[in-house]
Amino acid sequence: MDVQYFEIKDAPGRYFTCAAFTMTLAETRCAAMWREASAAAREPGYRLEHCRNCEIGASHAGETITRDNQYYGSHLCCRCHTWARRIVHGSVCPSCYNREREVARGLNAKGSPPSPSEWFWGDPAQTRGKAKTARLHQVPLNYRINARARERQAPVVNALEGVLAVLRQEKGRIAFARPIRDTVRGAHQLFLFGSYAQR
Ligand SMILES: [Zn+2]
Repeated sequence: MDVQYFEIKDAPGRYFTCAAFTMTLAETRCAAMWREASAAAREPGYRLEHCRNCEIGASHAGETITRDNQYYGSHLCCRCHTWARRIVHGSVCPSCYNREREVARGLNAKGSPPSPSEWFWGDPAQTRGKAKTARLHQVPLNYRINARARERQAPVVNALEGVLAVLRQEKGRIAFARPIRDTVRGAHQLFLFGSYAQR
C-alpha cells in the first residue's frame, strides 16, 4: 500500500488521491466512508461498494480488514442459486422455502402430494434452474471461522447449499473441512463441492 499524502493550504489534515474514485480525499473522510461501507448491506449499485474491502480505507479507520467472501450478505438463494430480494432463514429464497414447507407437509398448494426431485447426488450444473420442489438431507458440515472450529447441520438439498449458507452468513476467514462423513457417496459430494470451489 503506497499512498502519497499531501496537505492543502488552510485545510486541516492530510489528503491523498483515491484511485478507486479518482478524486482527492481527506484521510478522515476516507475513514468515514470505509466505516459506512463496512456496515452497509450489500445492494446492487451501492455507491460505496469500492470502499467495502479497501485496505487503505481500513488503515485510515485504524482497522485491519479480513475481506468478506463474495457471498456474504448477498441476495443469492443458496439452494436454487437465483437472485432473491428476500432471503428466508439466511439461506433460501421464499419460493424454495414455500416448496420446502409443502414437501414437509406432504401437500402442495393444489392440494396434492408434492413429488420432490433428488438433487443430492447430481452434478450441480444440472440442478440449476430445476424445479424447487426438492428432497432435503441432513448434511453435517465442519468448518472454521478465524481458526475457530464450528459445526452446522441443517436440511439441505446438497452439501453445496450448506457451504453457501455458511458463506452467506459468516464474515472472516472461513475454511471447510470434509463436508460429509467418510462414505463412498461422501466422496462424490466432496467432488461436487470441489468442482464449485474452482470456478
Ligand atoms: Zn431458491
